[in-house]
Amino acid sequence: MRQVYINGSYLPESEARVSVFDRGFLFADGVYEVTLVLDGKLVDFAGHMARLRRSLSELEMPFSLTEEDLLKIHRELVRQNDVCEGLVYLQVTRGAADRDFMFPAQDTPNTVVLFTQKKALVDNPLAIRGQHVVTVEDLRWRRCDIKTVQLLYPSMAKMQAKSRGADDAWFVREGYVTEGSSNNAYIVTSDGTIVTRDLSIDILHGITRAAVVECASDLQLRVEERPFTVHEARCAVEAFSTSASGLVNPVVRIDDAPIGAGLPGLVTQRLRQIYLDRSRASAV
Ligand code: PMP
Repeated sequence: MRQVYINGSYLPESEARVSVFDRGFLFADGVYEVTLVLDGKLVDFAGHMARLRRSLSELEMPFSLTEEDLLKIHRELVRQNDVCEGLVYLQVTRGAADRDFMFPAQDTPNTVVLFTQKKALVDNPLAIRGQHVVTVEDLRWRRCDIKTVQLLYPSMAKMQAKSRGADDAWFVREGYVTEGSSNNAYIVTSDGTIVTRDLSIDILHGITRAAVVECASDLQLRVEERPFTVHEARCAVEAFSTSASGLVNPVVRIDDAPIGAGLPGLVTQRLRQIYLDRSRASAV
């Protein structure tokens, strides 16, 4: 059975318990991070922890564990579960308190949970076949830059994608693509420029996105950070998404429009490989 971390203890998952008054349960008052594990090591750990700090601070949520504490816990859980390739989830809520919209006292202990998932993420069949995405109106709250556990709308969008025979949904606000249901969205134009939406409150500031933008510059590829329309995406020569779980993941169809030749593109494949090499080399 899988071992999880909960508030200072490592326990079998069936023994871990959270209060019925946890604010994560009552108000979605919590944030999370997902870190990729390759060769038993953590990819972009510092980036994930910096984003966690930012999410906590935007929500004025007190939190006392240090980055060093969190690194030790991540490594210990990877070790206990013998994860060679997969993901570590870190979930933090404002803790348990009698139900009240007002935040509880500053010294209310957080609920901190970590769990692992063993998964073959590098040899992902979708990366060979390419994803079919459908566009869905972006009806999420206006602080998509904070990584909250409020994931109901993305979950509904994924279900809608599935019912339409697709792999994922790309959100659209006022005609422009914001991001995927759980990833950042990119297109490659006919002159080879990679276009992805600029950072704002409209999207999550992806840790993989930052790494891939760097990889693209190393390859001397042009990157434009700006909004792009659904029409522009349908006419693109390549499209892809990025996330800690999907790495660099080709998109070969948007709604009923095949992208380029309807196969994973060369820029996408190169970026996936470079991103993997870089991640393996820098993992901790
Ligand atoms: N956007 C959204 C909405 C996400 O949920 C995720 C994945 N957590 C991402 C983008 C990608 O972020 P990252 O590269 O840090 O996994």
